[in-house]
Amino acid sequence: MDDRKGIAVNCRVCHRWKKPLGRSAPLGMANGLCDFECGGYDAEPLPGSLWPGELKSEFGFPCSDYGTVEVPDA
Ligand SMILES: [Zn+2]
Repeated sequence: MDDRKGIAVNCRVCHRWKKPLGRSAPLGMANGLCDFECGGYDAEPLPGSLWPGELKSEFGFPCSDYGTVEVPDA
């Protein structure tokens, strides 16, 4: 089965990277990320649930395919 991995999603309003949905940003990083307080967070391109480079199979929870790319089987 193909896996998916998270990619960085850039906000078109504040031009910061969007924090993955429902995830807490590491301390010290939160201020540099776009989150739900920004009007652009819920707009296209939509954020996903994975951190950039994180695999859906590692995450282990159901999540949308937003903010991800397909990783073909090796
Ligand atoms: Zn933003």
